[in-house]
Amino acid sequence: MAQNIPELYGSLVFNDRIMRNKLPKDMYKALKKTIQNGTHLELDVANSVAVAMKEWAIENGATHYTHWFQPMTNVTAEKHDSFISPAGDGQVIMDFSGKELVKGEPDASSFPSGGLRATFEARGYTAWDPTSPAFIKDGTLYIPTAFCSYSGEALDKKTPLLRSMETLNREAVKILHLLGNQDVKHVSTTVGPEQEYFLVDKDLYSKRRDLIFCGRTLIGAPAPKGQEMEDHYFGALKPRVAAYMHDLDMELWKLGIPAKTKHNEVAPAQHELAPVFDTTNVAVDHNQLTMEVMKKVADKHHMVCLLHEKPFEGINGSGKHNNWSMITDDGVNLLDPGKTPAENTQFLVFLMAVIKAVDDYADVLRISVASPGNDHRLGANEAPPAIVSIFLGDELTEVLKSIEKDEYFSNHGAVQMDIGAKVLPHFVKDNTDRNRTSPFAFTGNKFEFRMLGSAASVANPNIILNTAVAESLRQFSEKLKDVPAENMEHAVHELLKTVIKDHKRVIFNGNGYTDEWVAEAEKRGLYNLKTTPDALPMFISPKNVRLFLEHKIFTEQEIHSRYEIWLENYIKILHIESNTMCEMIQKDLMPALLSYMEQIARTASMKKAVSPDISTSGEAALLKKLTGLQEHMDHCLETLKADTLDAEKLSGSDSLAGAKAYQTKVLSDMETLRSYADQAETLLPDALLPYPTYGKLLFSI
Ligand code: ADP
Ligand code: MG
Repeated sequence: MAQNIPELYGSLVFNDRIMRNKLPKDMYKALKKTIQNGTHLELDVANSVAVAMKEWAIENGATHYTHWFQPMTNVTAEKHDSFISPAGDGQVIMDFSGKELVKGEPDASSFPSGGLRATFEARGYTAWDPTSPAFIKDGTLYIPTAFCSYSGEALDKKTPLLRSMETLNREAVKILHLLGNQDVKHVSTTVGPEQEYFLVDKDLYSKRRDLIFCGRTLIGAPAPKGQEMEDHYFGALKPRVAAYMHDLDMELWKLGIPAKTKHNEVAPAQHELAPVFDTTNVAVDHNQLTMEVMKKVADKHHMVCLLHEKPFEGINGSGKHNNWSMITDDGVNLLDPGKTPAENTQFLVFLMAVIKAVDDYADVLRISVASPGNDHRLGANEAPPAIVSIFLGDELTEVLKSIEKDEYFSNHGAVQMDIGAKVLPHFVKDNTDRNRTSPFAFTGNKFEFRMLGSAASVANPNIILNTAVAESLRQFSEKLKDVPAENMEHAVHELLKTVIKDHKRVIFNGNGYTDEWVAEAEKRGLYNLKTTPDALPMFISPKNVRLFLEHKIFTEQEIHSRYEIWLENYIKILHIESNTMCEMIQKDLMPALLSYMEQIARTASMKKAVSPDISTSGEAALLKKLTGLQEHMDHCLETLKADTLDAEKLSGSDSLAGAKAYQTKVLSDMETLRSYADQAETLLPDALLPYPTYGKLLFSI
């Protein structure tokens, strides 16, 4: 049946059109002012909005509301309250007040707080974020909120994200005014996150403990075919996948999520979805929601959507590309070269602010994408390396060179370049960009940060990006603030020159997958923080603490609590993986191996019983091989258990040392154990294996 998409789109969202229809004019205006300028929301406005929201929600089948928030886990949290309120005579009315809309008080004590709980009250509260629209899902009105401890410490990802957007706004507007662009009142950041994922059959999934508990396979021999034929990327969609993607689009569109592009990815069973970009906090909320809906819709299609960064060894894992830019309230993309020399100057200032930010804060950018899952990707020749560098493309790199060498502005503002034009060209995506090896690429009018893992919220990388760019802009403003208008052009030129000189080391247009680049990056003094435990301590280094405090993104306590939460998270995940692997070897693989050995031994003795001369050398050889593998596995299992116990103990007293022990010992024990397990798996008949192989998982849909 044909669907009216424009009518369907956003039908479950309390959007601007509905607000305008439902709210009294003055209330609507007051709410718009709050949304646009972040001004305080008066209680009478909140009451009026609450009534309108409730009416609309009930009309659309909702019975409950929830303050939806993003604690320091990778998933969102919600507690549902119904609208009912006893009316005294055994009847109920449907009720929802402004107070209930604006503030909620969930018990915060069971969410990660990284020590904040010890010093502060267990109570927490959620506060409505009116800049991200409310929506209905499964009969509940969802109200996007920020989540704080009672004394105001952020316990979530939205609060610092909103703070970072505000600080970037302030610094961007300040410098635009200094550059003579007085009309701009507000600058927002924009994000378009491309999301990769795998689909596997639900029956197969439910037979694998590793997928159930860890979201990734911990053992599994490669299938005869992987991604080497390069026949999956952009390939025709299989009917079951196409049906899934269709349903997914419909669900997302109803929620006002502008899902735009869908295609098969490089690995078998791997796919991608990209929405049209939006204001950062809306894009972050939408990405969380997208991941949730992806799983829900998969379940309806009797499949499971895997968002883990590395579900399968030997084929690509999944990431997320964070396309990022800045836009003024009059609609100018600040990373677009523009059409006039003045716009070009503005563009170059913002471009250099980003380049400087990425160079100065490469370590925290790396941390912002750090997770045990993503550690399997970064630097593994399928994703960008753990070294943060910037791809600019040849053309733009030439422009910067000419500025550095004083050739660019020498003709008083006019560009003296081969391009011949008086203004910068619009930089089209460079062909060399197709290799996708750069972690941070300029793609014509935006940057694409490509180190993100597929499972994590995109909040963290954007918090860092916004804040680091705000800091560059702040420093630029300091340099320019006392310059008289007639000298501004010269001063900007000098500033750009210095910044290029100081930060060009972070620009790298070559192939990021090569060993030469790793060596070269080291020579240039760039960070190469390979694993999460290597990277995390940089979060609390004085340079970075200063950045966060200066821009009021995190308090000192929030910084330390987040650091602790990340370490804890790393430790817990590796601990669960180790436990799961032990269980799978002991309860699934080893029993299968023993039955096979028994079968072989029985065959051999039956043969001998029939005729003593008959050869049983094949059975003997196979038994010997399997026994060898069994012994190796037994031994590795004991080592893994002992090292896990040690790492766990260590973590109790020193979380960083504990995390390192998990990374250096436990992970490598798991790898060794896996190598024997996978050899055993290849020898076992499918009928005896209690869990599905890679071949089945990857090629059965
Ligand atoms: P690809 O990287 O796959 O070639 P595109 O570059 O066309 O795809 O777009 C990727 C994403 O970038 C999309 O989500 C798109 O909406 C987003 N995007 C485009 N312009 C901007 C912008 N100014 N700010 C943020 N994201 C943007
Ligand atoms: Mg992309």
